[in-house]
This record gives sequence, structure tokens and C-alpha cells, in this order.
Amino acid sequence: MAPATPEAFDHRRRSAAGCLCCASRNLRREVQIVSGFLAARAWSGKPELTQLVHCENCGLRFFERGLDDDEVARYYRGYRDPAYQRERQAWEPFYTSARHAATLAWSDSPARLDNLRHSLARAKASAHVGAVLDHGGGHGHMLAAIDADRKAVYDPSGSPPAMGRESYSRECDLPGGWHMVLSCQVLEHISFPSRYLERIHGLLADDGWLYVEVPNEQWRPAPGGERSRKFLLRTLLHWRPLLMAADAISTACRIKFGRLPPLGFVAMREHINYFTAESLSALLVRNGFKVEACGIDNGGQLFAVARKFATAEA
Ligand SMILES: [Zn+2]
Repeated sequence: MAPATPEAFDHRRRSAAGCLCCASRNLRREVQIVSGFLAARAWSGKPELTQLVHCENCGLRFFERGLDDDEVARYYRGYRDPAYQRERQAWEPFYTSARHAATLAWSDSPARLDNLRHSLARAKASAHVGAVLDHGGGHGHMLAAIDADRKAVYDPSGSPPAMGRESYSRECDLPGGWHMVLSCQVLEHISFPSRYLERIHGLLADDGWLYVEVPNEQWRPAPGGERSRKFLLRTLLHWRPLLMAADAISTACRIKFGRLPPLGFVAMREHINYFTAESLSALLVRNGFKVEACGIDNGGQLFAVARKFATAEA
């Protein structure tokens, strides 16, 4: 198997070393489009073609193009503030302020805390831990579900933490030795998941617990040949109103009906990885974790509870 962390990583060719989760070379590709909002905000670019890579072994889907560190910093600066919503709606009319507010409300909902507690119980994780870190957790909402002596949140977007919480905005300032790390709704945004998990592995105490939560997003591909789709998508790049209309129809069909319309497409937005239980488990095992529980939680999100057991494969 290829090393989990190759020395050089090309964010424009993420499949160069095989599947990001299981390293399989059994990959299928579909042409897709980078969203105008992502391209403008992250690298001052325009919509362009990219590929969605589908691993036939573990089921992971991921966009061939990712973001480098500078693009990540530009994209997530002021993440989900009012300017973000307005700029996004200019490319995605369906991303209304009401939908934006609903996303934020879900993010801070008590139901998510119950689902987290239930998932940890399924894995027979410790009911009480010494120190817990919410890694990428905004203001640290999910920490309310954990009984711990010390609670901290790390968020590079500089989101203000909840009152009284220890907080970090720079990765280099993060101390190690955490008994539990939460990573909620983060991995689907990460260009190189193995490097991310390697860092978390280094932050955890021996036998420490890791909770991962990602969206469960699956759909049936668009009917129609790849050549026709590529021709159509290339044409759409030159007609912004048509591109936006086709994006709205494709997104609605995928979210509501779980399938793309004929010649439809998936716009590459901030979610660049689409995990299955198999792919998430494979990724964790490959990076030195033992998976204690993995599946769909009571809120429909994909989760895994794992334990650090070894140094990551090198
Ligand atoms: Zn795979």
C-alpha cells in the first residue's frame, strides 16, 4: 500500500497516489464543474472543469482538484459571515439568507449533541475524559455533549469561542496530550485527509479517542455519455445564467431525489470529499486508528468513533 502521507502532494491532482482513503487505483472519473463562488473566493478564478473521482473499492468520491493552504485561508476567512452569504447567493440564488440561517441553526442544535452522546455510547467510549479538543469546531458547540475537566476549541477561521472555553486559532500553538478530539463536519472540506488525520494522531494522548462526523451525501450519477456531458459543461462555462440555472436544477435533483438529471453535474463547492462508512473506516485505519463504531447517526450524519493505537503508517 502507498504511504498514507506522500512527501509531495499536488492539490490539483489529488488522485496521483490513488484513492485518498484506501490507496486503490481502481478509480472511475466523471467531468464536473468548479463553482464560480469557490473559484472567485479561493483563487480569484472563474468556473472551470474538474473531475469527480469515484473509488470502486471503498466508495469514496472526491474532486480531483483541492485547495492549497493559501486558497484555504482565503476561502475560509470570515466563513459564513453575512458577506459570505451574499457573495455565495450571487452565484447560487438558492443559497438564500433563510437557508443560510437554517444551516447555522442546525449547526448549533441540541439534537446534534444528543446524536454525539449516542454515537460515543455505541462505541463504549469513556463517559468522562480529562481533556477534550474540538478541532475545527467554530465556537465549540459540540463540546457541550462531553463531560471533561478541560475543554478547548481550535478553529483557524478565528470564530470567537463560547464563554470560558480555551481556544486556539493557530495550529502551531496547539498543545498535545488530548484524551479526546472531536472533528465534526471538517473532513469533507480537507484537501489531504491523511495529512489532517496524521496531525490529529499527533495531538492525541496514547489510547485517546477520536470522534469524526461528516455529511452522508450519496447520489446516482447522471444518465448520458461522458462525451456529451463534457461538451455541454464546457459550453455552460461561457454562459453564466445558464450555468447557474443548470446548477440549481442539478443540485435540487441530487439533494431531493438522490440522483442527477440527464447530463447534470455536481458543482465543486466547499465539500470536496464524499465519504462512505467503508472509506471513512479505511482512512482511519490507514492513519493509525482502531475503529470502535462507524455508521449513520440518529440525525442522518456519517460518524466514526476511533481510538489511537499506533503511529500512523509511514
Ligand atoms: Zn478507496
